[in-house]
Order: sequence, then structure tokens, then C-alpha cells
Amino acid sequence: MTDNSQTRFRTATRAVHSGSEPDPSTGAVVVPIYQTSTYAQSSPGVTKGYEYSRTDNPTRTAFQTALASLESARYSLAFASGMAAIDVVLKTLRPGDRVLAGDDLYGGTYRLFTTLFQPLGIEFDFVDLSGDFDPEPYVRPETKLIWAETPTNPLLKVIDIARLAAISRAKNIILAVDNTFMSPALQEPITLGADIVVHSTTKYIGGHSDTVGGAIVTDNEELYQRFKTIQNSAGAIMGPFDSFIAHRGLKTLPLRMERHSQNAEKIARFLQGHGGVRRVIYPFFDDHPHHEIARRQQRSGGGMVSFEIDGGREKALDIVAKTEIFTLAESLGGVESLIEHPGAMTHASIPAGVRAEKGLSDSLIRLSVGIEDADDLIGDLEKALS
Ligand SMILES: *Cc1c(COP(=O)(O)O)cnc(C)c1O
Repeated sequence: MTDNSQTRFRTATRAVHSGSEPDPSTGAVVVPIYQTSTYAQSSPGVTKGYEYSRTDNPTRTAFQTALASLESARYSLAFASGMAAIDVVLKTLRPGDRVLAGDDLYGGTYRLFTTLFQPLGIEFDFVDLSGDFDPEPYVRPETKLIWAETPTNPLLKVIDIARLAAISRAKNIILAVDNTFMSPALQEPITLGADIVVHSTTKYIGGHSDTVGGAIVTDNEELYQRFKTIQNSAGAIMGPFDSFIAHRGLKTLPLRMERHSQNAEKIARFLQGHGGVRRVIYPFFDDHPHHEIARRQQRSGGGMVSFEIDGGREKALDIVAKTEIFTLAESLGGVESLIEHPGAMTHASIPAGVRAEKGLSDSLIRLSVGIEDADDLIGDLEKALS
């Protein structure tokens, strides 16, 4: 499928066809795993577009083309992990630069910012960017990058991307959005005005909990060239096999996200009606403080549900250990449903006092709702809660 097709076809069609030209030498419909490090040259410097796989590899190119198309952008680069992609964005900054970032980022992102980049002289302002909070007073002359993750994890607060984009554009600041939780099937930050999208393709894009990877997407050619230079110089590329797996996942992404959202909404409704549940957090529900923003910028509510049980830490830990279909595990975004206790697992490194301040209670349970039968999933939770 050629590049201009991305304006002619909708998301589900692009997911299947973008970057998937039949192989020119054999006609293979699926882009093969080009498991090669180097490429023959007919004379010095004369190549067929590939010379060394750190620089470019056809399997990686195919995945990057497809992902860029889904995010309605021109450029994408695939990396060995989500963190490797985020690392490259930060490496474009210089000592003295400041980053304005959301205050409940993915733990690994927070660790990268504070333990690797802060000692190099880059300063961070962590602020709650969600809802109608006004971040403008926190924007300083040195602020070069705004970093947003929406919905946030695990409280599913929603950040208004278009509003942040207006502020960043007016002040000539780059806006990066970590779109891992929504995926391009449900949210297109670049269409809403963001300059950069990053992904952990480990999650919904791969979708089957069988690969670790990451990506940067941008429509800005200058930024792309800088990222590409860093990728080629530092080398944290996505390998051919992982590129193949991630691209294969991408083809069913819109279909899976539809089911993730449908199941999550059904389960959230069930939990709302359950006597043992104190509070359910789901961005598309009328009682969610940011549901209007969510409905404006997301195609659906997504596959993540958080809820507080009527009871404390011990009871919550007991419930997450009792499910049969929901696997007790960290991570998210796979076809299989996962359950976890943020206070004891994904967010355990945050001191208890700080967790409480953020509203992250020990009664909180997080679900990554898979694509199984919704009634089976509800039955499983009903048993664990009883
Ligand atoms: C998992 C995750 C990351 C990190 O990605 P890895 O592939 O694990 O390196 C970054 N951001 C978000 C929102 C994530 O969920």
C-alpha cells in the first residue's frame, strides 16, 4: 500500500495493509523476517536501499511504515523496548533544559528521567496535567519538552492533548505523548497537535504478551532526523523477529481494541453494581471527572479498569490471588486478562505516604481486560469478590 493511501483509507484498513507490499522477489504476501545484518553491494556504495541492519532493515521498515500510517504521521522508528524509545527522545535535550511532565508517569519513565537524565543536568517538573488543571504557570523559559501519558496509570486520569498542544505550540515547546494505553486505534495524539508519540509496543500493539519493543512516531522531519541519528549511533533498534511480531500484532489492533473496550466497559458496569466495590474508575463513565475530555479525544474507553474494594490491603491482595481467568501479573495490553495490586506490585516503589497523597489507595485493584468472553470474566471476578 503506497504512502498517500493513508489519507484514503480508515484505521482498520491501514492496520492490515500499510507497509505490507508483497515481497518484490517472491510475491510473498507477508513481509518476511529479513534475518540479516548486512546487504550485498553491486559496487562500493551502490545498494538496494539497505546496507547494515542497525541503520535499516526491511522487516523493521515495514512495521515502522504501518505504525506511522496508523498515527497519521510520516515517520516512525522502532526500538528494542519502550524505554529505549523514550531514552532517545530525552537524548535530544541539553543540560539546563527542563521537562514538564505528568506526575503519575509509568514507573520506568520516572526512573529514567530521575536517575539517568537528572544527573546529566536536565531538570524535571512533575505536575498533575489532567482535567482542567492549568499547567501554564509551570512552563519556564528553559522548558523544552512537555511529557504526557493519558490515561494515567493506574488512576486513569485523562489529559487534554489538544489543550496541551495549544500551550506547547504557543511557547515553542515540543509535546510528546506516551500513547501506550490507548494505542493509535483509539487515540491519535499527532492529529490532536502533539509533536511526538511514543509507544511501548510490548503492550497493545504487540498485543500477545510475547515481545518487548518500543517506537517513536512523528510528523516533524527535523525531529525524525535527530531521532534517526541517535538510533543509528546508539543502536537500540528493534530486531527483525520482534519487528515481524509487532507488525503482525498491529494488523489486528483495531479489532482487539474494540473488544478490549467492550469487555472493559461491561466489567466496569458489573463492578459498579457490586456491593463489595467502593469505586470504579473508567474514563468513559459519566462519574469520571474527565469523561468529557476522554470522549472528545478517545474512540472508546480502552481496556484498563481500576477499582477500589470495600476493605483494605489484605482483602485486596486476597482477591487478586483468587481469580482463575485473570492472571496475577504486571504489564498490560495482551489478549489475556491480567489483574494486579498497584500498591504491592507496579507502584510498590512509590513510598506509601506519597501513594496515599496521589489517591492511590491500598484498596485499589487494576485490571487489564483481555479479549476473552465478557461473561466468563465477570463470573471470575464475582467468585473472587465473594
Ligand atoms: C510498559 C510501558 C512503558 C515501557 O515500555 P517497555 O516496553 O516495558 O520498555 C512505557 N510507558 C508505558 C505507559 C508503559 O505501559
